[in-house]
Amino acid sequence: MDISEFVKFAKATIDFVADYNETLRNRNVLPDVEPGYLSKLLPEQAPQKSEKWQKVLEDVEQYIMPGITHWNSPYFHAYFPTANSYPAIVAEILSSAIGCIGFSWIASPACTELEVITCNWLGKLLGLPNEFLNHSEGTGGGVIQGSASECTFICLLAAKEYTTRQIKTLHPELNEDLIKSKLVAYTSNQSNSSVEKAGILGSMLIRLLPVDNKCSLRGETLKKAIQEDREKGLIPCYVVATLGTTGTCAFDNLDEIGPICKEHNIWLHIDAAYAGAAFICPEFRYLMSGVQYADSFNVNAHKWLLVNFDASVMWVKDSRRLIEAFSVNRIYLAHDKEGLAPDYRNWQIPLGRRFRSLKLWFVMRIYGVEGLQKHIKNTIRLAQLFEKYLRSDDRFEIVTEVVMGLVCFRIKGDNSLTKKLLDRLQARRQVYLIASTYQDKLIARFVVCSRLCREEDIAFSWNEISSQTNEILQGELY
Ligand code: PLP
Repeated sequence: MDISEFVKFAKATIDFVADYNETLRNRNVLPDVEPGYLSKLLPEQAPQKSEKWQKVLEDVEQYIMPGITHWNSPYFHAYFPTANSYPAIVAEILSSAIGCIGFSWIASPACTELEVITCNWLGKLLGLPNEFLNHSEGTGGGVIQGSASECTFICLLAAKEYTTRQIKTLHPELNEDLIKSKLVAYTSNQSNSSVEKAGILGSMLIRLLPVDNKCSLRGETLKKAIQEDREKGLIPCYVVATLGTTGTCAFDNLDEIGPICKEHNIWLHIDAAYAGAAFICPEFRYLMSGVQYADSFNVNAHKWLLVNFDASVMWVKDSRRLIEAFSVNRIYLAHDKEGLAPDYRNWQIPLGRRFRSLKLWFVMRIYGVEGLQKHIKNTIRLAQLFEKYLRSDDRFEIVTEVVMGLVCFRIKGDNSLTKKLLDRLQARRQVYLIASTYQDKLIARFVVCSRLCREEDIAFSWNEISSQTNEILQGELY
């Protein structure tokens, strides 16, 4: 493909993207396909001869779009949002075109330096303690990873190395493998699946601790678990606290958990993958009270901060712990400016890394802090609107307090009614919600996800939910 064809192809694709966004409401949010649908439509072999880009773009509409779940549809209320904005899309194109792999400062100085700057910008915007920022006096700093799962895993691995080294210094006679086999991590039974997975991948026992009636992990529970484990000869090493759990958007109590971690010299990681974004609005920062105790903190800019996937920002107070755990040097990686700026390969799992900070930079500049705050507040306002609809209808109960963009509700009565509602909604494909549980209750999670969502979209989703509830409850009567 030559440059003039590239320009035509790219322009046509941008037109396609603009049209896709404009017409998202006309598409069912869930696709109507069965597993294997695509292999029936596409050839078994790659084409021998070059095909025209026009035909390829046409086939996107014909074959790919029918199999897409439209995460950016205003009627998508499942999981949590996946961010989408035009500045981030454009930055992604540019990042792809530059195509640098910034594993060390010299491998692309701007890639590293813009990441340092944008992580500092965002860290300040969230009101994180100064120790998390990259500045000449400290050891803190931010880095952009691919996912919250990676952040939790990386910090687990670093905590494992750090604790092992400390114990080895105090007791040189102890075998390192034996120390590692006794390490234990803690999180609540409401934490994201990725936290348990980090334990599996990092070969560390993870205890899923019970929560209070607000789904929050409390200090007393953690303290008791630590005591029990110490008595068994285990070594508490790592705690993952969640601010904004996936199931019900609950907040663990950092003011209680933090001092316990400090007392026992346990690494405290905060998973604020979704709700962390709201801390750019000072009025929500009360929800991260106790953050000063944390060793690491993570928010997914790709969830609620308008930066397209992937951009999971992680800050640590002591980056030396990552470097000590992960650095492997080779002559081909060396450069003469080492130590003067981060070599981010030592802060992450892969060697290669994308120029993700461009997305953050574009979004923060083009929206501005005010634009980002407006987006957060608007999402919460729309969630509260949906909450109002529910409160006006006594067939429903709201199960947990609506703090962010998530409303947890159910049809009063047996769990089977809410199950039927979710099944019906899914079968009709107009709106998409998923289930969670609160104590022994099955609940439906309604999340305001799309940047495009407006009041009339909430009304549309509410009408669908309400009318399907009518059908279910009438069916129960006859
Ligand atoms: N933590 C929380 C609280 C989440 O809600 C999620 C995903 O929704 C994750 C972690 C996992 O995020 P990622 O897909 O970036 O690994």
